[in-house]
Amino acid sequence: MRILIANDDGYLAPGLEALAQAMQGLGALDIIAPEQNASGTSNALTLNRPLSVYTAANGFRYVNGTPSDCVHVALTGLLPRPDLVVSGINQGANMGDDTLYSGTVAAAMEGFLFGVPAIAFSQVDKGWGELTAAAVVARAVVQRVIEQRMLERPFLLNVNIPNRADAAQRPWRMTRLGRRHASEPVIRQTSPRGEPIYWIGPAGDAREAGPGTDFHATAEGAVSITPLQVDLTDHSQLGEWPSILGALAPLPQ
Ligand code: MN
Repeated sequence: MRILIANDDGYLAPGLEALAQAMQGLGALDIIAPEQNASGTSNALTLNRPLSVYTAANGFRYVNGTPSDCVHVALTGLLPRPDLVVSGINQGANMGDDTLYSGTVAAAMEGFLFGVPAIAFSQVDKGWGELTAAAVVARAVVQRVIEQRMLERPFLLNVNIPNRADAAQRPWRMTRLGRRHASEPVIRQTSPRGEPIYWIGPAGDAREAGPGTDFHATAEGAVSITPLQVDLTDHSQLGEWPSILGALAPLPQ
């Protein structure tokens, strides 16, 4: 058993250390993470410059790139092929629309895209509160997956853990992604040089958060586990669009 561990908060993040500790004894571990916090970088790959890989005193590797860079480099030449990729533990929720922007989910997804089972772990609230309990949950999920012989085919799980001291005693619920309202407006300021600058605003509140969603499960104090897929095709609209666009001839010359 070989487990590749990554994150998006950077190689110094407490959540990465906690996840690495949680995986001890489950297999040979390789840890590789971005040099700097790369939250919100989604599946970005660095194509306009080379990447360097360094090793910290504690053995963690770090890369001057994105979460996807880390896993991509690991899987395509740097490290032996793992049986499982785990990512996190992220500081903050990755629920609903967050999953599209999340570097934590992307690091796991990079493994999944290469045919390796993968699990992303996030704490619902920021601040690393009750991180030890979240790590116990992460270990339990990985142990269960190994015991159930689920590693023979690739899958992608997105796990969100409430920041609770009793997180390891809370039920696990299989969920679907909810939806958020659109993000808060951009925040305009003036730079010291008098130029307008803009901060991306915070994510919107949960909009679709009913029973069955990740938002609902975690609001009730349960651990949310969502199986993800990568295909963005809207299959429900495939029947409608051909009569509007697909059947039309190209524009005449
Ligand atoms: Mn993050």
